[in-house]
Amino acid sequence: MSRFLSAKHASLAPYTPGEQPRDMQYIKLNTNENPFPPSPRAQQYAAEALKKLQLYSDPECTLLKEKLAALCGVDKDEVLPTNGSDEILNFAFMAFGDQDHPALFPDITYGFYPVFAQLSGIPYREIPLKEDFIIDLTEYDGHEGLIVIANPNAPTGIAIPRDEMEAFIRRNPQAVIVVDEAYVDFGGESCVPLIHQYDNLLVTQTFSKSRSMAGARLGFGVGCKALIADLNAIKYATNPYNVNAMTMAAGVGVLEDEDYTRQNCRTIIETREWTAQALRECGFEVLPSRTNFLFVRHPALDGAATYQHLRQKGVLVRYFAKPRLSDFLRITIGTQEQMQAVVQALREEVEAYA
Ligand code: PMP
Repeated sequence: MSRFLSAKHASLAPYTPGEQPRDMQYIKLNTNENPFPPSPRAQQYAAEALKKLQLYSDPECTLLKEKLAALCGVDKDEVLPTNGSDEILNFAFMAFGDQDHPALFPDITYGFYPVFAQLSGIPYREIPLKEDFIIDLTEYDGHEGLIVIANPNAPTGIAIPRDEMEAFIRRNPQAVIVVDEAYVDFGGESCVPLIHQYDNLLVTQTFSKSRSMAGARLGFGVGCKALIADLNAIKYATNPYNVNAMTMAAGVGVLEDEDYTRQNCRTIIETREWTAQALRECGFEVLPSRTNFLFVRHPALDGAATYQHLRQKGVLVRYFAKPRLSDFLRITIGTQEQMQAVVQALREEVEAYA
């Protein structure tokens, strides 16, 4: 830390992203990336955009917004594209949280939420998940401020049905409710259709997972016009060109190729179910996932040691050295071939150590 760092950031604990190792070729299943390349149309549009990089990108993201609005069945003033969904989440904390409007989210969820709260100086409280890793929404009732729910949740993979989400949003008009749907395309139920009924609902989604564009950094928020206008003001106060021209073009391309996305999601879901079954047969407990990852533990295996052994075998998964999570591994769903290799490696662990 330099002697110049503002006191308000002195105790900031930044987010730790999953490893992006360069030392060797891993079967890389640690950051929930999509195993398939971006849509050919996305690649083609991005390559064309490359030729015009002397120009700033369209700060209004006009074409991309039109495509997103069509996808979501909303008006173009009800969507806001951002630099990954991390950015729209950060904007939401900046826009809707303050000393009088603290943030509330589960204790086991996406690790960036407390960082966003700290960065903006917003008090926050984490509500413990139930024993079975379920979010009990009644525990969030009556909160005045910002409520953030990842649905499906990460790293558990567990989803809340839309009916339950809607009842929760309806009985809490006093709070801004952010529903982080980063993984919704792998079998969750989206709250996007509810944005016309509830002016306190912001849904965030990403192109990083189902659309194979993690490296391009593209996400978006969907909400009523007034919420989106607030977030747009934050965008223009921080980075008007937040979505670069290549990413914007790739985003348009992938949205014109929705069949490609749907097919890849179907394949990943099938592979997930195959993997879950194979791991259960080896004695693993597998939480019910509606995402592109599985959260698993074996009653007789040590989580940290298993993570290390897999790593030595060239298989990279995500391990969280935290209370209640330290027995678990979070395994991204890759190709069928990759998953066969992981299942084999885990079977060997069970044979050797369980
Ligand atoms: N929300 C959740 C629950 C996530 O797991 C992630 C990805 N790590 C994000 C949001 C952010 O994704 P991105 O910024 O790539 O859109």
